[in-house]
Amino acid sequence: MDMDLSLYKNIWVFAEQRQGKISPVVVELLGEGKKLANEVGVELCAVLLGKDVNGLAKELISYGAQKVYVADSSLLENYTTDAYTKVICDAVNQFKPEIMLLGATHIGRDLAPRMSSRLDTGLTADCTRLEIDPEDKKIMQTRPAFGGNIMATIICPNNRPQMSTVRPGVMDKALKDESKVGEIINLDFKLSEKDIRTKVIKTVKTNKDMVSLVDANVIVSGGLGLRDEKGFEMLKKLADKFGGVVGASRAAVDAGWIDHSHQVGQTGTTVKPTVYIACGISGAIQHVVGMQEADVVIAINKNPSALIFGVADYGIVGDVYDIVPMLTEELDNVDELVKRLNA
Ligand SMILES: Cc1cc2nc3c(=O)[nH]c(=O)nc-3n(C[C@H](O)[C@H](O)[C@H](O)COP(=O)(O)OP(=O)(O)OC[C@H]3O[C@@H](n4cnc5c(N)ncnc54)[C@H](O)[C@@H]3O)c2cc1C
Repeated sequence: MDMDLSLYKNIWVFAEQRQGKISPVVVELLGEGKKLANEVGVELCAVLLGKDVNGLAKELISYGAQKVYVADSSLLENYTTDAYTKVICDAVNQFKPEIMLLGATHIGRDLAPRMSSRLDTGLTADCTRLEIDPEDKKIMQTRPAFGGNIMATIICPNNRPQMSTVRPGVMDKALKDESKVGEIINLDFKLSEKDIRTKVIKTVKTNKDMVSLVDANVIVSGGLGLRDEKGFEMLKKLADKFGGVVGASRAAVDAGWIDHSHQVGQTGTTVKPTVYIACGISGAIQHVVGMQEADVVIAINKNPSALIFGVADYGIVGDVYDIVPMLTEELDNVDELVKRLNA
């Protein structure tokens, strides 16, 4: 049976939280969601699940949510596919949002397909751009396709809600304003232990050398041009000069030189730092889609025809093992100068 699309209204953001902290991507979704809501002429809402999350609901309002739908229960303290799918799908069926945005995080990538199947609607995973069609106000969802070689724009014409997961680090963050006001709506949901087939016994944090690329202002990334893992120690020294972090191409990760959490690109993290320094990276499209939104890109490559120079604001043709120590030394000199000036 055809859905009556006119019944669906407003934009919802899934307010993913872990251990009482809103995920950074939620703030990005609220930033983007506000722009979309203004264009469609509807309200921006958030849906928040967890235990003792009332404080977080207020935080979501300060980031621009006009309404926050809250489900508070010890059964929702930890994410489980069964519980979250049931509670959110019931809420969607009751309140009928026309657009539903989730972060393309581990949780979002698990929850969104389950929801779209249960709600009998479409889902575009891993979007890097969202726009509203000025003609019919449908959302146009853009994502890399065919191994990242083209960007595909996808619409969901006949079903609601139109659902997207959005890559962390791509959209601009909403600005916090504590004076903003909004409504908190407690969901009247039905959930029992019987509905949940998995039990979280305990949460163990990995002790691997993980890095947060999404929040970094400066990223110094290395690729196969480094020749071995020791090259990353050299990049770390340069990154440390800026208080930045080390990133990597997939080829360097596949070579086992560095952990996958450092990988930038289509199958890694999408980043948006102020400065991105690509060292010995060729500039394959799958890498470029993950870093092209950086404010300033500096590329160091010994091949003057390397594709990376096509996206670089500043290009240095040369051997990384000559250029990177030179840059680090120059910054040492600047440090020294600043110290002397301040003495
Ligand atoms: C479905 C799919 C998903 C993918 N996802 C990703 C992803 O998320 N991220 C990603 O990065 N890749 C991804 N890839 C792989 C991507 O296509 C490339 O293979 C990869 O980015 C290449 O890594 P690289 O630039 O380090 O290596 P190469 O392409 O081998 O480039 C090495 C570069 O180093 C330069 N060089 C060599 N020696 C030196 C030196 N001494 N000094 C300076 N420069 C030097 C060379 O001129 C060359 O340009 C994906 C591929 C597929 C098919």
